[in-house]
Amino acid sequence: MTALSTLLEKASTTRYSLSIPEMTLLLGLSDPQEIAQLHAAAYAVKLRHIGPYVSLRGLIEMGNICSKDCYYCGIRKSNTALTRFSLDSEAILRLTQQIIDLHYGSIVLQSGEIESGKQTAFIESILQKIHILSQGTLGITLSLGEQSFETFQRWRLAGAHRYLLRIESSNPTLYAQLHPTSHNFQRRVQCLRDLRKLRYQVGSGVMCDLPGQTLEDLARDVQWFHELDLDMLGMGPYIPHHQTPLGQHLTLTPTDITRKLTLALNLISVARLYLHDVNIAATTALQALDEMGRERGLLAGANVMMPNVTDIQYRPQYQLYENKPNLDENAETSRTLLEQHLATLGESILWDQQGNSPHYRTDP
Ligand code: SAH
Ligand code: SF4
Repeated sequence: MTALSTLLEKASTTRYSLSIPEMTLLLGLSDPQEIAQLHAAAYAVKLRHIGPYVSLRGLIEMGNICSKDCYYCGIRKSNTALTRFSLDSEAILRLTQQIIDLHYGSIVLQSGEIESGKQTAFIESILQKIHILSQGTLGITLSLGEQSFETFQRWRLAGAHRYLLRIESSNPTLYAQLHPTSHNFQRRVQCLRDLRKLRYQVGSGVMCDLPGQTLEDLARDVQWFHELDLDMLGMGPYIPHHQTPLGQHLTLTPTDITRKLTLALNLISVARLYLHDVNIAATTALQALDEMGRERGLLAGANVMMPNVTDIQYRPQYQLYENKPNLDENAETSRTLLEQHLATLGESILWDQQGNSPHYRTDP
């Protein structure tokens, strides 16, 4: 047995067993055969805990108005070269009905961050209407940024089950380099703890290949996911956007694209091998780098996909990063293509199922 096989065997057998140097080593693998071994080991762990299944969430990008100014994000407050939009309740419910008709089983409502009494009440009423529309069958995930405990509580009571709030980097120094000083790392962590207390299924994650980020940072991120006892992970490559401070001078070369994709896939595998039973998304950012990026994510250990159902007219206004795919694809086409791609991988879609994280326990 090679040293790599021994390491992968240990990680597959015992969760949380990899050390930081071991995770760092796995994240940095570049030999195609070794990478294939890593992905295969992670995929086997995914099969053991989840089976050959993919859960879908229909993603509704509800609006691009944001009070934050994250240095990497295309819809940050200071980007004035953007028409701002905000879907009304009728449009959101129409898209929700579409998701029900497509049998996706779960929905994600995402937007820029707005903290206000009006926004809290608006989302609360949407949640109540979605509950009625779907007769309580849809899994409902929110991804609406940092909010107060009371707001999270109202949304939970109104029917939201899950919340996605990426930490972006669990290294506070790196976090501070990616955000203005008004953005507070500790508050973000507190939000994740509040969500846990309120019995949400809690999701977080990071971007990889950020300027100034090391492989060890990413290994520590994975360890941090365990410390926070997360149920869900959304991780993807950082992709520059020219109308942002971080991305204004960055243009991706083919070498950059390969490096980002390799690292993002290795990160999925390492997270699967360390945590075993969480839901891991094969994110759209992977698809931005490679047409089959999300499918490759599944083979590296992910088990969730989030097809975008946002109306095509709004998609150009929701470019968190450049080259965001599917700007011109409608939901029905996405669904058929996806099903075909997945069948070739031996994976089937869990139609009409919420696809809850196996890690989530109902007992406190
Ligand atoms: N406003 C909410 C949800 C929308 S942003 C929030 O911030 O939580 C959702 C995710 O998009 C962010 O967490 C971030 O990780 C990702 N994102 C933003 N800009 C990106 C970029 N340039 N490249 C890759 N991912 C990016
Ligand atoms: Fe706003 Fe989220 Fe983009 Fe930050 S990442 S600017 S909070 S939409």
